Amino acid sequence: MGFDEMDVDTIWMDGEFVDWDDAQIHVLSHGLHYGTGVFEGIRCYDTEEGPAIFRWDEHAKRLYDSGQPYGLEIDHEPEELEEATKELIRRQELESCYIRPIAFYGYDSLGVSPKDCPTRIAIAAWPWGAYLGEEALEKGVKVKVSSWRKHASSQIPTNAKTTGLYVNSLLAGEEARSHGYVEALVLNKEGNVAEGPGENLFLVRDGELYTPGLAEGILDGITRNSVITIARDLGYTVHDEATISRGELHTADELFFTGTAAEVTPIRQVDNVTVGERGPVTEELQSRFFDIVERRTDDYDDWFSYV
Ligand code: PMP
Repeated sequence: MGFDEMDVDTIWMDGEFVDWDDAQIHVLSHGLHYGTGVFEGIRCYDTEEGPAIFRWDEHAKRLYDSGQPYGLEIDHEPEELEEATKELIRRQELESCYIRPIAFYGYDSLGVSPKDCPTRIAIAAWPWGAYLGEEALEKGVKVKVSSWRKHASSQIPTNAKTTGLYVNSLLAGEEARSHGYVEALVLNKEGNVAEGPGENLFLVRDGELYTPGLAEGILDGITRNSVITIARDLGYTVHDEATISRGELHTADELFFTGTAAEVTPIRQVDNVTVGERGPVTEELQSRFFDIVERRTDDYDDWFSYV
């Protein structure tokens, strides 16, 4: 990707809009040293009604909740963050974009305890296309089961979207890419399927959907939640607390990823085993998902925050 002030000329930081060059923090910030930040990734879609932010309320809630285990309190109301985000989109004349709020411990002292460190917060927005590539949405991706396991939720809260957690995602993703795969699939400590480095996983078998439950150590994905709702509304049975063994990946009828960045991306191969091209269930859910987020239907209108 790679962007600069050409793409992001304004950033909202600690309550003010600042220029790209002024969005700076101190090198001794606690968050940099210990990974004590929480963040969100949110998409805004270009619709006939103008830019529409997808599931703002759920993302905002997850941001505040993610800070809980770390005592990281955000002293801005969600409404202020929402309005700041909309203003960023307006000022930069963005249509569809990706929105990145981040809150973290700033500088006071550098003990592991963040005791007197202030909470810093910023929001940026920039244009962003398909995360795993346009072709991936149609043809699917090849994934490699990672040799790195996910943290267990007894080791670190896996339902919080904490910056420090993503070193695990980086290791898994880079390992997969160095072997010629597009993305990784990460098993949990028990060896069952957890999720991708930045995606949740769904499996289709005999016309029913299965996705690992929260107890498997996954992030409670908002796209996952949306796809579960959409699928049930279409009449599918969805097992949303499934335990999926590694071997079931190989015998699945269909597999796909969900995520803000990945949207609904089919998986066509796991390691050396072919699962197959995008299957009919994935295709139906994917096309319904894009009809909804691009507002070609009036359904689920309460999922959208219009700019
Ligand atoms: N799992 C992980 C580890 C993630 O980083 C993400 C992306 N936020 C997801 C799942 C998907 O979550 P969402 O649909 O809310 O983007």
